[in-house]
Amino acid sequence: MAMEMEWDDPLYRSTVALFEKTAEAIDLDPNVRRRLRFPERAVIVTIPVRMDDGRVETFHGYRVQHNNTRGPFKGGIRYSPDVNLGEVTALAMLMSVKCAVMGLPLGGAKGGVRVDPAKLSRAENQRLTRRFTTEIINDIGPDSDIPAPDMGTNEQTMAWIMDTYSQMKGHAVPAVVTGKPVSVGGSLGRSQATGRGVVYMVQDAARHLGMELGEKTTAAVQGFGNVGMNAARKLDRLGVRVVAVSDVYGAIRNDRGLDIPGLRKWVAKTGRVTGFPGSEPMDPAELLEMKVDVLVPAAIGSVITEKNVHKLRCRILAEGANGPVTAAANEVLRENPDIFVIPDVLANAGGVTVSYFEWVQGLQSFFWTAKEINQRLYHLMSKAFHEVLEVAQKHQVDMRTAAMIHGISRIAEAMKLRGLFP
Ligand code: NAD
Repeated sequence: MAMEMEWDDPLYRSTVALFEKTAEAIDLDPNVRRRLRFPERAVIVTIPVRMDDGRVETFHGYRVQHNNTRGPFKGGIRYSPDVNLGEVTALAMLMSVKCAVMGLPLGGAKGGVRVDPAKLSRAENQRLTRRFTTEIINDIGPDSDIPAPDMGTNEQTMAWIMDTYSQMKGHAVPAVVTGKPVSVGGSLGRSQATGRGVVYMVQDAARHLGMELGEKTTAAVQGFGNVGMNAARKLDRLGVRVVAVSDVYGAIRNDRGLDIPGLRKWVAKTGRVTGFPGSEPMDPAELLEMKVDVLVPAAIGSVITEKNVHKLRCRILAEGANGPVTAAANEVLRENPDIFVIPDVLANAGGVTVSYFEWVQGLQSFFWTAKEINQRLYHLMSKAFHEVLEVAQKHQVDMRTAAMIHGISRIAEAMKLRGLFP
């Protein structure tokens, strides 16, 4: 119990609660159940960084490796002021499940630094990233643990990690990270993959529900970063009216549909969605409660809680973000037949799937076309969607429980086959 205190965080608590419920539902072997509750390894490091004004600031970083039974650890690195051991551990557990749901030969990990990247200069960010990489250099590697971007990190961060790792090893090791720029071994389509995958899942869900996606359909997107912006672009290209969008600074709406290509340029110029010509400001909290066909939370975790879950009026909830629904809200949601939930481990799995493609392409030094990547992505995601749907129908459970059952069963099977060392 004392050990669990170290991991105390709302996302960790709700993820473990979900795991326990799933374990109960599938009568999971108690030995496997006890093992999967905790990560295999959790590394905490202190990162001293020389700031531009000469001071040395100290940051805390984490790399948590949850399970590698099915393959090397894989998971993003997040820079955010809220990062803590519990949150990173929960996200690492979700990565294990996500990779298993997608059938990827990878395990689950996650990393993070407790820092607000908006407050760092580019030079400070680079020094922080390089020192963090040095601190975890023995824990990551192309055969052991492969980081990727997440909230607050991007292609540039990955290029710095790859360079630092390569400098320390004395030769280029592009496969140590995914989500790199294409010019240093990245994959075409990786930066758009998570948002695009969210919409692939919305398309499959709409087909399942007999809904048509077009100009009569509306969507609201929370968060306009890598995931939110790319999901909005793909929805817009399908003809869906994206009527509201938000970011950390505020929210905007236009009931006739926002001009998404124009908004993208606006955000590139101003750094925020607010003030976009042709839109009205709105209360960010109201965005989640709008009557829309598709709601995509694509920012932070725990935004749908017991306080607002009753007010949701969407038909499809596609979880671009990790853990956007708290455990208490999930209990309400699973009893609501009007809302079809595409859980995070399925909805946002496009990112890790193209990361997997990038890793495979890097290891064989042979790169695929964008068309090949998108076709393979849709194929794998759609296959996973239908497998999860089948589990939901067979066990008479909601999609989130079904995805957990599907993923955990695969991990448990692999653990039993490999056995316990020594
Ligand atoms: P990002 O840093 O690129 O963008 C985050 C966006 O959310 C920004 O627009 C930011 O302004 C906004 N935001 C932050 N706090 C907010 C708040 N309180 N209210 C509204 N908006 C807020 O991050 P990202 O990579 O797009 O990640 C977003 C989510 O998607 C995270 O939960 C992440 O774990 C998840 N995810 C990302 C990937 C990926 O490939 N990048 C893959 C799977 C899941």
